[in-house]
Amino acid sequence: MTATPDASRARDSVSTALFDRASKVIPGGVNSPVRAFGSVGGTPRFVASASGYTLTDVDGNSYVDLVCSWGPMILGHAHPAVVDAVCSAATTGLSFGAPTAGEVELAEEIVARIEPVEQVRLVNSGTEATMSAVRLARGFTGRTKIVKFAGCYHGHVDALLADAGSGVATFGLPTSPGVTGAQAEDTIVVPYNDLEAVRAAFAANPGKIAAVITEAAAGNMGTVPPLPGFNAGLRELTREHGALLIMDEVMTGFRAGPAGWYGIDGVAGDLMTFGKVMSGGLPAAAFGGRADVMAHLAPAGPVYQAGTLSGNPVAVAAGLASLRAADSAAYAALDRNATTLGRMIGEALTAEGVAHRVQFAGTMLSVFFTEDPVTDYAQAKAAQTWRFPAFFHALLDHGVYAPPSAFETWFVSSVLDDDAFSRIADALPHAAKAAAAATA
Ligand code: PLP
Repeated sequence: MTATPDASRARDSVSTALFDRASKVIPGGVNSPVRAFGSVGGTPRFVASASGYTLTDVDGNSYVDLVCSWGPMILGHAHPAVVDAVCSAATTGLSFGAPTAGEVELAEEIVARIEPVEQVRLVNSGTEATMSAVRLARGFTGRTKIVKFAGCYHGHVDALLADAGSGVATFGLPTSPGVTGAQAEDTIVVPYNDLEAVRAAFAANPGKIAAVITEAAAGNMGTVPPLPGFNAGLRELTREHGALLIMDEVMTGFRAGPAGWYGIDGVAGDLMTFGKVMSGGLPAAAFGGRADVMAHLAPAGPVYQAGTLSGNPVAVAAGLASLRAADSAAYAALDRNATTLGRMIGEALTAEGVAHRVQFAGTMLSVFFTEDPVTDYAQAKAAQTWRFPAFFHALLDHGVYAPPSAFETWFVSSVLDDDAFSRIADALPHAAKAAAAATA
């Protein structure tokens, strides 16, 4: 039996016992830092199962899921077409280390959706995709330096951890020990949405910048869309200076719309990275782009990149089934659900007099506790993030699972229905009250 938890009755004894056991054998008790609830406090909920928009934890509490595995589950959990595809792929073998037809079909599906992407290489995670894209950009241009934006997160690639968003922002790390001076030295960090800073970086490093990497729309410092003309400006500047543009669509890809953020603003990277939605929820990701650049990748060219499990048949089947099931009705529902959720959050906070701003990037959204527009990482950090833990926990206690960090995007699925929104509507007034009562 499942139950919607209540502030006074939230059950977490099984999660707590598991977290204690986990903390003995897994650093911090989790396999990815934000899962630990570090910045919101309390015990992470261990998930027993998930179906549609519902997550059920090991204590029997059920939640409306607004994290969706950090993006992949646009169709909700355990979508029948995806589960069928995975089961059927699994019965014919789990991994071969040799090419399969499914890999060709997934690559064709990606190439068909995003016209400037002529070739893709499948990998296992978004981190691997951006790491490989950066290596390829360096190999192609013969240059070393990379420009990235403060608050953008591109996975835990050494060179890209400086001033990163997501967990690096959640835990307040300027960068990570273990990243060498040389790696950090080759990374130039500039403020997001600041074309002048990019222009200055090119002027200060003539002929040295291999690539500018950006999130197509930033979602790892909260949701911060590019200002009008920003992505197009990056396109022009990189072209002018003979550098590549790496458009990281790991989060936005196939979520913002059938062709990701590219489908919204029409700005393509020379290289683009994908993950999350195209994985169907299994470990798969991709990077791709111009055929002349991709031709430098082994075995066609000299830039080495490889993977024992790359293009894994079960992951490929999940990704393909997800993309094929993500039709125009699913994208329309995602749009509608994001808009409704954002409006409801805004109304609840307004009713309690809490200064806030709900920001959208396509179907991604997040709430900042400030009235001012947030266009970069400094502004995101300047918001009243101390209100977030109380807001988060009141939602959790009333059966709504939001991202456990003020710096993360909220992800809706296409299957949120009236019942889900009525549960969210019941929870939000409690959360808004808790945010109003919070103190710094
Ligand atoms: N790039 C972006 C924009 C992301 O949001 C993420 C993860 O959240 C990554 C790259 C890294 O992907 P992964 O966690 O699959 O390594």
